[in-house]
This record gives sequence, structure tokens and C-alpha cells, in this order.
Amino acid sequence: MKLKSVVLLFFFATIKLAYAQSAFTFFGTDIKPGTKHHFKIPISDDKDSTFIPITVFRGEEEGPVLGITAGVHGYEYPPILAGQRLIKSIDPKTLKGTVILVQIANVASFSGRSPFINPLDDKNLNRTFPGNSEGTVTEKIANFISENVISKSDYFLDMHAGDASEDLTSYSAFYKNSTMPEASQKAKEMAEALLFDYIIVFKTDGKDYVKKDKPSLYCSAEAFKRGIPAVDIECGGLGKSEKEKVLQVENGVLNMMNKLDMTVTNSEVIKKSTYQFVSNRVSQESNHDGIFYASKQSGDYVKQGMTLGVITDYFGNTLETLYAKANGVVLYIVGTPPINTGETLVTIGDIAEK
Ligand SMILES: [Zn+2]
Repeated sequence: MKLKSVVLLFFFATIKLAYAQSAFTFFGTDIKPGTKHHFKIPISDDKDSTFIPITVFRGEEEGPVLGITAGVHGYEYPPILAGQRLIKSIDPKTLKGTVILVQIANVASFSGRSPFINPLDDKNLNRTFPGNSEGTVTEKIANFISENVISKSDYFLDMHAGDASEDLTSYSAFYKNSTMPEASQKAKEMAEALLFDYIIVFKTDGKDYVKKDKPSLYCSAEAFKRGIPAVDIECGGLGKSEKEKVLQVENGVLNMMNKLDMTVTNSEVIKKSTYQFVSNRVSQESNHDGIFYASKQSGDYVKQGMTLGVITDYFGNTLETLYAKANGVVLYIVGTPPINTGETLVTIGDIAEK
């Protein structure tokens, strides 16, 4: 071998070494570069026991850590099924950095077909963060995710859909705060790369859940509070699991990873030019218990004063007609008949800044 070749070989070996991943340990297991590892994290309190299925993907090359949660609400299926596909479509051989993917944060809600809450302790996991290591199972799940997933993440994504009764427009959302311009800007870029038609801006200035001495309540808010760029998605609704929505989530996540420079591919980051920002949302509540007949669907454009639906009593008598209080797109509307006093009937997104 000529000297020049030896020098070159040494040079490339050094380059390779420079980009090789350092050690990454999750739940006591060292994940080797270029591999993935599945975990079933046991969670129990005095009364109940459950587990959290998590996949950790370790790229061969150095890069950031992306935390992703699905199934914080176990009746919200497209992101959960997208997570199952990502087991194959995130390839540790072409990954730069690490992905910690919580497949189903709330397994009892999923297997028990229980919307909104964990049936073991009746708590809503997405109102429980940062959780409590000494609490009930839902509080312990939140604590585990806060301390073992969010705490390790450079970027964070929490994935939802419309629950059993929720007719929802698909969108991404990002956290924004004037004291955290860099994390806010990065989160905005992540939200754009998720490729939904609408992007909700979570304006958090002055909000309790981002204050140091107050609980974050929401999974992704816990990440943002720690200075981590954080986004949410909502994709699909009414407890359905349409393939189109599943693929939309999967493609969005892969494009966002590409945008974050987490993949060794030559594929361009897809840029969408048609999305719209929604910086204000107007929600309207029910004043009655009864039966709701919606006359609009998610995604419909409405004008202030337009009829959105009617609530009757259990004998067919009209109790209330719901009129839109704003112009904009219906982001959410109750999609099944039961309605109770104080529940949100509709949320309208004010289409604003571009
Ligand atoms: Zn949800």
C-alpha cells in the first residue's frame, strides 16, 4: 500500500470515528449505534399494573435526540398505527441521532377502548404532566415520560387524533413564547415540515402551564417548558383509523426528521406552501344536557352567525341552536349525539397571519 493510500485511509477512518455515536443508555440498556431496541416499561401502583411499549432507534451517525409520543390518549388511532409503521421506516442504518418512540403511552386506555382517560385510575394522561413517581399509574406514566423521554430529547413531538366523539381537522401545532425565541422558531419549522394544511400557534406568554412553579399538564408543554422545541399533531378523528391518516402521520414525521437533519438520504425536505396558520381559536360550550345534531363538519368554513347545530332534549324539543361566534375553519365539532352542559361543542380557527 502506498503511503498516500495509507494516509487517505487513516483520514477516512478518523472521519468515520468523528461521526460515530457515543453511548446511549435507555432504561439500563446500552443501545448500540445502528440498532433499535424495544422496551416494555413496567408501571404499577398499589392497585394496578400496566406497561409502556417504547422503541429506541440509535443511528450510526451522531445527531440530535427526537422524542415522540403516541397513544397519550389510547383511543386516538392513526398516530399509534403510524408508530407501528415507523418501526420499519426509521432505519437505524440511515438515521443520524436517536429517536425515542413511545408507541402507546396509555396502554390501558388503548386495550380498554377507553376515550380520554386511563380506565385504571380515571385520569387524563394529557392533564397529568409532569406526573408523580409516587402517584397512581397515570401519574407514574407521566413521570416516566418526563424523566426518561422528554429529559433526553432535543426535539419533541406528541401525536394525537380526534377521540371517539371528536370530529377534528388534522393539523400540527407548535409552542411559541416571547422569552424562548429559538425554541419557538425551531418548533415552527418542525410544525411546517409535518405537512398539514393548518398550523396552530400555541401562544404561551403568561400561560400558567409554562410557569416554573405550575404543572405543565400537557405532555408537549412539559417539553417546551424545559426549553425543547415542541410540537403536537392531531390527525384523524371519531376513533377511526383510516389508512390515509396513518400514512399522513408517518410521512409527516419522516419529513420532519429530514428537516431536522436526522436522516442520511439525498431526498429533499418537502416544503408545503399551502398551509395556513391559526393563531386564534374560539371555543363554544353547551348550555344543556341532551342530543346534539351537528350541521357542520370539521374542515368546513363558517361565518359568524351561521347555524352549526341544534341541541334537543330527550323528547325531541329544541333546547338550543348553536351559532358560530367567529369566522373561520371548524377545527373541532362534537361528532356524536351525546352532549353535556359545559362541554366544548365547537372550536373555530381564526385564519390569520401567513
Ligand atoms: Zn388526544
